[in-house]
Amino acid sequence: MSVTPVLETDVLRRQDPELAEILLGELTRQSTTLQLVAAENFTSPAVLAALGSPLANKYAEGYPGARHHGGCEIVDVAERVAVDRAKALFGAEHANVQSHSGSSAVLAAYAALLRPGDTVLALGLPYGGHLTHGSPANFSGRWFDFVGYGVDAETGLIDYDQVRTLARAHRPKAIVCGSIAYPRHIDHALFREVADEVGAYLIADAAHPIGLVAGGAAPNPVPYADVVCATTHKVLRGPRGGMLLCGSELAERVDRAVFPFTQGGAQMHTIAAKAVAFGEAATPAFTAYAHQVVANARVLAAGLAAEGLIVTTGGTDTHLITVDPMPLGVDGRTARGRLAAAGVVLDCCALPHGEARGLRLGTAAVTTQGMGEGEMAGIAALLAGILRGRVDAKRARDEVRELVDAFAPYPG
Ligand SMILES: *Cc1c(COP(=O)(O)O)cnc(C)c1O
Repeated sequence: MSVTPVLETDVLRRQDPELAEILLGELTRQSTTLQLVAAENFTSPAVLAALGSPLANKYAEGYPGARHHGGCEIVDVAERVAVDRAKALFGAEHANVQSHSGSSAVLAAYAALLRPGDTVLALGLPYGGHLTHGSPANFSGRWFDFVGYGVDAETGLIDYDQVRTLARAHRPKAIVCGSIAYPRHIDHALFREVADEVGAYLIADAAHPIGLVAGGAAPNPVPYADVVCATTHKVLRGPRGGMLLCGSELAERVDRAVFPFTQGGAQMHTIAAKAVAFGEAATPAFTAYAHQVVANARVLAAGLAAEGLIVTTGGTDTHLITVDPMPLGVDGRTARGRLAAAGVVLDCCALPHGEARGLRLGTAAVTTQGMGEGEMAGIAALLAGILRGRVDAKRARDEVRELVDAFAPYPG
């Protein structure tokens, strides 16, 4: 990857050294620590170039060919390209690429299909449901009546029998499948069957795995779900943003739910960057990337298990791993702090089997950096050494630094 757009801060440095310093400081942080946050990735310089382009100046309320502002002829083409690429990439009849974030996409899906007070069945928050799946602190929990299904306490796998039982008992208007922490593939066909049995819409919140879907490394929810919500910035490696995919019959409702119901002007620079990312995701190189992400996660999970950590569901099908570090004598929160001190960045997460918090890791970013299975085995050993207190912070920092220096996200 070329470094040019990333470091094009000369203008900023001259005009606003304070902010230039902050931007460069963050670039340094990202390149000198180990990024294992499961929701993050490194976008390409091409995506960053689109984000930093004059399209950021353009107001474009509405949709291509039907805008409320003048001068949209060029950005209309950008949005049409983004939509066409998304449809082709995911085999969807319709795509809406305007959602400002994954949460905005979920809000729009609810707005398209539901009325306030409707019952919705979704994975409970303690088991990996997202805030938008019924948290009382979020609009979803306030405006809808959420019922939560869970995962089996032993296996960590979604309890599909419970999904069916709860669906029959509560007759939800919609069922949501998708999670912030589920490491396995989701059985979309089974969710579709349950939704059909009780006359519910099926909403797939594929924010995490959609990039794997693009690369053919995870099952596609599009043929099963009425609406698919996704982000473009996780494994998909695009700009920060959201999108919706659906069949033609729901296209108009979904579009109206995004604009004008929940959003105003589209962010055309982000939409152009989404188009760039979809273009990248359609290449054989991205297919190889997506499969490498999963291969890396499998090796990392196996390595952590061999070191004695409890890996939820015993492994992973995706980029994502959750573990309980308790057997090494630390809970998730302490573990995250100890790892952060060594320059390893990851998140805490809820665990299916207990009150203590665990750790959530992902391989999307390190795989973009070019790391492979050998590095994953090394990372597992390093993490366990740090958590056991066998490697002191200084040595751990040096080891992390040596590793990331060999795999610079933006070389140069
Ligand atoms: C990341 C995520 C979201 C939200 O995305 P934001 O862009 O942070 O709003 C929604 N649902 C799921 C399942 C996610 O993992």
